[in-house]
Amino acid sequence: MFKSSMIVENLKNIHQRIASACLRVGRNPEEVTLIAVTKTYSEQSIRDVVDAGVIDIGENYVQELRQKHAEVRDDRIRWHFIGHLQSNKIKYIADWIHLIHTVDSLTLGQQISKWAEKIGRTMDILVEVNTTKEESKFGAAIELAPSLVKDLAMLRGLNVKGLMTMGPFLPDPEDSRPSFRMLRELKESLESEGVRLPILSMGMTNDFEVAINEGATMLRIGTAIFGSRIKT
Ligand SMILES: *Cc1c(COP(=O)(O)O)cnc(C)c1O
Repeated sequence: MFKSSMIVENLKNIHQRIASACLRVGRNPEEVTLIAVTKTYSEQSIRDVVDAGVIDIGENYVQELRQKHAEVRDDRIRWHFIGHLQSNKIKYIADWIHLIHTVDSLTLGQQISKWAEKIGRTMDILVEVNTTKEESKFGAAIELAPSLVKDLAMLRGLNVKGLMTMGPFLPDPEDSRPSFRMLRELKESLESEGVRLPILSMGMTNDFEVAINEGATMLRIGTAIFGSRIKT
């Protein structure tokens, strides 16, 4: 089977699973945006998934993202940055990035704000929260997240649109539920104080249905669309 038809098949399946997961909890599937995570996959995979109707593309590495952005050159695409962002790399993506999911410090937010002012655009960001307390993970500590969100919201040129997290990478998707619930509760608590945070970016191939169940509005999915990243 051609790679492109495999992608179409996989997407059909994922859209069905998103729809059923939404139905089970009385949510509208239109509230949920599917981001195709294309790290390590080719430019052609990006073109295929866009042709199949998914225009939100997520990448983890600035270098790879820049290259693919330059090569694919498709104005329909909304590019999402979902990896760890170093301040000195912001300039390479600042002009065209749609949403940065991984702001986890005030320093990084200040640098993004500086670039936003310099180029005269507003940058939409999410605050990444470490909900598993694993040392290996990035993201602001859950205890510090509320004040970080409020501090970032004060910066010029920066629009804090919501929160992002990753589950614990365990085989049972239910093991991600505490993380996702924690993120939703943080959003609700901040919103009760008047901070608007419409986006919850959570859920990957292994746990996206649980994420929908807990209120995800953006899913970041790679493997289920493109197949395993492990190269032989
Ligand atoms: C790779 C990655 C994903 C997608 O993971 P899959 O398991 O392939 O769906 C989502 N979010 C982040 C931050 C990632 O690095």
